[in-house]
Amino acid sequence: MTTHLDRILFAQGGQCFFCRRQLPKAEASVEHLVAVANGGKNDDDNCVACCKALNHLLGSKSIKEKLQIVLNQRGSFQCPGNALAQSSPSSSTNATPVTPKPAPAAANGTPTAIDLVQADLKKRGASRPRKVATLSSTIKSLLKQHQKPNADAEVAHLISELQKQGKVIVIDTKVTYKLG
Ligand SMILES: [Zn+2]
Repeated sequence: MTTHLDRILFAQGGQCFFCRRQLPKAEASVEHLVAVANGGKNDDDNCVACCKALNHLLGSKSIKEKLQIVLNQRGSFQCPGNALAQSSPSSSTNATPVTPKPAPAAANGTPTAIDLVQADLKKRGASRPRKVATLSSTIKSLLKQHQKPNADAEVAHLISELQKQGKVIVIDTKVTYKLG
């Protein structure tokens, strides 16, 4: 007989809804996104299969608190209790941080957006923007000035890229620079 859990797990390709590891049925459980205690239904729209440990942690928290727990993991989500499995030698290669690829220089010699931003910031010397908001608008107008597409969407990406490269340090709303 196919159980509720079997069906959901099948629909999720056998993976935990949250951390996406292959989930043996013995370690899986049905998580009600809106907890039954909060009026959540027992239908497929409200149910996911996930690691038992996470289900236990989420309990009957509100959907807002649950989202917060998930979002707090920022990116690579690990259900609690999976740390051991992750540090085993067979999976250690998966844990190696991905080396960021250097931004490819455009074939026709046009500088990439990140090059433009760095060059502009260097040029500004002591008058570099000191606040994230100012830095964002500075980058946005620079991109527009150079007819780069999607200036609005690119700004956040460029700032996080500069942070990754250690060129820009953001603390709260303040920005400091290590452009070399
Ligand atoms: Zn999981």
